[in-house]
Amino acid sequence: MKKNLIFTALLLMGLLGCSETQLDYMTLHKNALVVDLHSDTPMRMRRGFDFAVRDTSGHMDIPRLQEGGIDLQVLACFVSTDMPAEECRPRVDEMIDSIEAQVGRNQDKIEICRTAAEAENIICEGKIAAFIGIENGVAIHNDIDNLLHFYDRGVRYLTLTHTASSDWCISSADTNPAFHGLTAFGKEVVGKMNEIGMIIDLSHAHTSAVEEVLKITTDPVIASHSCVHAICPHDRNLTDDQIMAIAKNGGVIGINFYNGYLSPGGEYGRIADSLWGLHRTEIDSIRELYQEDREKRREAIGPIYKAVNKELANIDIDVGTVVDHIDHIVKLVGPDYVGLGSDFDGIPTLPNGLKDCSLVPNITKELMARGYSQLDIEKILGLNFMRVFEKVCDN
Ligand SMILES: [Zn+2]
Repeated sequence: MKKNLIFTALLLMGLLGCSETQLDYMTLHKNALVVDLHSDTPMRMRRGFDFAVRDTSGHMDIPRLQEGGIDLQVLACFVSTDMPAEECRPRVDEMIDSIEAQVGRNQDKIEICRTAAEAENIICEGKIAAFIGIENGVAIHNDIDNLLHFYDRGVRYLTLTHTASSDWCISSADTNPAFHGLTAFGKEVVGKMNEIGMIIDLSHAHTSAVEEVLKITTDPVIASHSCVHAICPHDRNLTDDQIMAIAKNGGVIGINFYNGYLSPGGEYGRIADSLWGLHRTEIDSIRELYQEDREKRREAIGPIYKAVNKELANIDIDVGTVVDHIDHIVKLVGPDYVGLGSDFDGIPTLPNGLKDCSLVPNITKELMARGYSQLDIEKILGLNFMRVFEKVCDN
């Protein structure tokens, strides 16, 4: 039971004094409401793994979520931009079906939430609240009816784009954008999401798309799994100007745990580029050989990915670097706009001390070691997101 929920709400309302008792990190963590803004675990669920059983592979399952004290877990249904349009909606439906099936089999431990109030009730009963998101706006295949369909199925955030631009939203990876951020349809999507109460996720969005969304949205937004560009200059990370704009909008940034986005000075990226360079010709020929067969292509490239990521896993990044990114945002705009967005089960490498979701308390330990107050830690761990969740989805 998260006894601190009511206490923290009172504190936030200024109804209690600020006298803080010094708790040990595990007690503070277990009492706090902990939110992870992004995981790609539904991909594994679709492939049939059992969420209820503690696994040795992957980054997340119910036992490890419980060990990690995670109370609200976003389960993002991912579709890639190259998926044929007609396959997108059925694919997302399939992933939602598997989330529902997994949750249905474990109702004593986990339940799907559609509002912040529902989430708090679920958490107060000692269960995990599962929040359904979709990663990549191509899932709606240029049709508002699909957005409404997914809303009806319980989806409460949509990551507008991914690693390639869609017909209506430019990706952060796009070096030659065909339009400025959003098309007229893209703006319609944003307007409809505001209207129905679905959270806009700007992770993966191009600077121009972030700019366009923030111009028109009437609700706070999130960047569910992004890091700080000033520390790691990667196109997936947010510049200080973007961080300030998201804070001004009242939004929240979930810090991604991927070493490639955390690495100070982008060193990881440079090493990765040189490792991939060694395999370039081999990968190109596999792509050519299996142009028409995505499964075979994946199968053939798989061992190369594994070998490269094994090398990359040796790069020394730890929990302290995750907290450096949190710190940067707190110093820039205060403690109200940052949270956690692990990207578990969607990334190949993770920091030492954070190899799966059971180890998330190490972040709390590091925040305490750096002198963060209990209230600020609770905001970062989950209350900041709950503020956005309630504002967008409960009214
Ligand atoms: Zn992503």
